[in-house]
Formats: sequence, C-alpha cells, structure tokens
Amino acid sequence: MDLKQYIADVKDFPEQGIIFRDISPLMANGEAYRYSIKEIVKYAQDLNVDKVVGPEARGFMVGCPVAVELGCGFAMARKKGKLPRETVEVSYGLEYGKATLQLHQDAILPGDKVLVCDDLLATGGTTAATIELVEKLGGEVVGLAFLIELLDLKGRDLIQGYDIFTLMEY
Ligand code: IMP
Repeated sequence: MDLKQYIADVKDFPEQGIIFRDISPLMANGEAYRYSIKEIVKYAQDLNVDKVVGPEARGFMVGCPVAVELGCGFAMARKKGKLPRETVEVSYGLEYGKATLQLHQDAILPGDKVLVCDDLLATGGTTAATIELVEKLGGEVVGLAFLIELLDLKGRDLIQGYDIFTLMEY
C-alpha cells in the first residue's frame, strides 16, 4: 500500500522552514491505519515483546493497537507532571524545543522485552529518552518501530545498536 498518499506535508509548521509530516489523514483512513499497525505487528511478532512503550501523544496511537494485536501490555511515556504515581524521568532536546518524559516506576519490570513505538523518527531525541527510561527500569529494548523516518535528521545516529523498523522515509 502507498502510505505516503495519506501523509499531509505542512510547510512552515510549527516553525518557519520545517515541513511537518501530518499523520492525521492516515489515522482517519481505516484501511491505511490498520495496514500500518499490521506491518509493525509483523515486524514485532518474533521479538517476544512483553511490553510496548509509546511517548505522548502520537506514540500512543501507534503503540496501543500494536500492543493489543501482540497481546501484551502498553506503557505510556508521558510529559512531566502527567503521571500520578512514582516516576522515573529523562530530559532531552527536541527538533524544536526541550522536554522531559516520565514513566511510572512500575511500568516496566526488570528483564521485560520492550518495543518502542512512535509516529515519527526525527532527531531521535524522543526515542533515545524513551529507551533511557526503559533501561533505567531494567527493561531491554528489543525493537523500535515508526510510521515515518526523516532521513536528513539522522535520528539513527543517536540510537545506534537498536533494531529499527520504519514504514515510510522522507
Ligand atoms: P525527535 O525527538 O526529534 O526524533 O522527534 C520525534 C518526535 O517529535 C515524535 O514524537 C514526533 O511525534 C514529533 N515530530 C517531530 N517532527 C514531526 C513531524 O514532522 N510530524 C509529526 N511529528 C513530528
């Protein structure tokens, strides 16, 4: 399936000079959304995943259906201040801005095999922070899955050594 037809390219958002790849049309199309999730599930099915982790907010949209299909749990990596119980946290730089992500302390058990899902890999900062959170809790990141990879931003350089699956490249 040609998934790129479901990605809207938005010029100068959220800042001048940035082309924002908007996945909303893909999410709005049942067939394209389901196809994307099934492809990630196919990639992950031999990884013995115990838990899927997705960073807020579009990581939830990709990670949750993948977890349901795999029959494993899902853990939310949320922006600072949103999780109500004890957390671990990591601060990181974004393509535009800065942020802190948190996981509940009990979201990952030591030895859990974890698949990290997000909509898009840009500089890799969000993914690197999510990996660090998982590893702080003793989890093992066995795979990383994205709908889109922005090749120019070389996110892979920041997350070397991890297995990466992407459906679209720009
Ligand atoms: P990174 O941390 O630089 O890799 O940026 C990836 C994160 O920023 C992901 O969580 C994305 O949701 C978001 N992001 C960055 N650029 C875009 C874009 O062009 N479209 C959609 N999301 C983006």
